[in-house]
Amino acid sequence: MERRQVGILGATGAVGQRFIQLLANHPWFEISWIAASDRSAGKTYEDACKWRLSTPLPERIAKMVLQPNVPEGSAVELPRIIFSSVDSDIAKELEPKFAAAGCAVISNSSAFRMGADVPLVVPEVNVDHLDVIEQQATRKTSGGYIVTNPNCCAIGLVLPLAVLEQKWGIEKLFVSTMQAVSGAGYPGVASLDILGNVIPYIKNEEEKLQEEVAKLLGGVNDGAFAPGDMTVSAMCHRVPVIDGHTEAVSVKLKKPATAEEIIAAWRAFKPLHQGADATHLPSAPDSPVVYEEGVDRPQPRLDLETGNGMTTTVGRLRPCTLFDWKFTLLSHNTIRGAAGAALLNAEILAVLGKFDFRKYPPVNSAREESSVNA
Ligand code: NAP
Repeated sequence: MERRQVGILGATGAVGQRFIQLLANHPWFEISWIAASDRSAGKTYEDACKWRLSTPLPERIAKMVLQPNVPEGSAVELPRIIFSSVDSDIAKELEPKFAAAGCAVISNSSAFRMGADVPLVVPEVNVDHLDVIEQQATRKTSGGYIVTNPNCCAIGLVLPLAVLEQKWGIEKLFVSTMQAVSGAGYPGVASLDILGNVIPYIKNEEEKLQEEVAKLLGGVNDGAFAPGDMTVSAMCHRVPVIDGHTEAVSVKLKKPATAEEIIAAWRAFKPLHQGADATHLPSAPDSPVVYEEGVDRPQPRLDLETGNGMTTTVGRLRPCTLFDWKFTLLSHNTIRGAAGAALLNAEILAVLGKFDFRKYPPVNSAREESSVNA
C-alpha cells in the first residue's frame, strides 16, 4: 500500500496529540499538514503546543508550521485525508469546507455523527454503514466526504454489545460511566473541581451515548440508517482518573444466554481477523474485546494499555437482579475512544477504496472551481 499524506485539524489538543503519537511510525499514512486555532497558525508545533504525552514529540512534527484552519491559504499542499479533532461547534463550520474542497474528513467531533448521510463507524461493528458516504453531496462533486467515530464512551461500549446483539439481541441497556479527565481535552476540568471529587454531569454526554449506541448497532435499509430497537439509558460521571473510561453495564437480552456462552462469544469475536483472507488493519487489535477473570478487574491502572489501547477490557460478568446480566468495561478514551478509532476508520476506508480520488479533481483545482462558483 502506498504511503498517503494526511492532515490533522486540531493537532495541538488532547486528541490531536494522540494522532501525532499514533501516526509517528504508521505504515500507510504520513502527516504533511497540521492546523489548530488562529492563535496557533503560523507557529511551529513545538511553540504552539504543550506536549502532554509520555513518548517524545517527533522531531519532524516539532518543526512543522501550523497552517490556517481552512482549506485555502495553506503554504503546503492540502492532503486529501484530514483527521479532525476540534470542538463540535468549530467542526460544524470547518469540516464541510474540507469535504467540499475534496478531502475525506475523518472526524472525532459530535457535529455530524447523527447526520442522515454521515456514517458513524466502528469497523468491527458496522463497517457496512460506510456505503452511505456515496450519498453525500460533496462526494458527487469534489469526491470529499465526512465520516465520524463515536463518542469516547460509545466506542468501548459497542464492542462487547455488538457480540450480544448479534447472538442474542439486546432489549434494554443501562450504562453508568466513570469518565477520565482527559476526555474533557486539555486543560479540561479545573483541578480544584475534580481532585477528590466526582461530577455527575457531562454536558450532552448521556444523550449522545444513548442515540449513538442505537445508530451503531442498527443497520442500513435502502441507504437510510435504521437504529437498533434497544432501549438505552445512560448516566455519565467525570472522575479523577487521567485516562480510561470505566462503564458499569446492565443488559436485558431478547434470548437467554449463560455467562459461559457470553464470555466465549466475546473471546471468539475477531471480526477483522477472520482467517487467511482477513483484512489486516495496522491499528486493529488482535482482540477487540478481552475478558478479564479477576474479581476486581478491569481497572484503568492495570488494563488501559491492553491491545495498545484499542481493546475494550470487560470483567465481572454476573447476573443482574433488574435485567439479565451486568458487567464492567474499560476503554482508553483518547486512543480507542478518539484518535485510534479515527485511524482505524481511515485504514478500513483505504482498504475499501474510499481514498481512490482519481475520478475527482485534485484538491487544489477543486478549490479553484469552488471559488469560481462562489
Ligand atoms: P482540546 O484538547 O480542547 O483541543 C482542541 C483543539 O482544537 C486544539 O488543537 C485547538 O487549537 C483547536 N481549536 C480551538 N479552536 C479552534 C478553531 N476555532 N479552529 C480550529 N481549531 C481550533 O480538545 P480534545 O479533547 O482534543 O477534543 C477534540 C474533539 O474530539 C472534540 O470534539 C471532542 O469532543 C472530541 N473527542 C475527544 C475525546 C477525548 O477523550 N478527549 C474523545 C472523543 C472525542 P489551539 O491549541 O490553537 O487552541
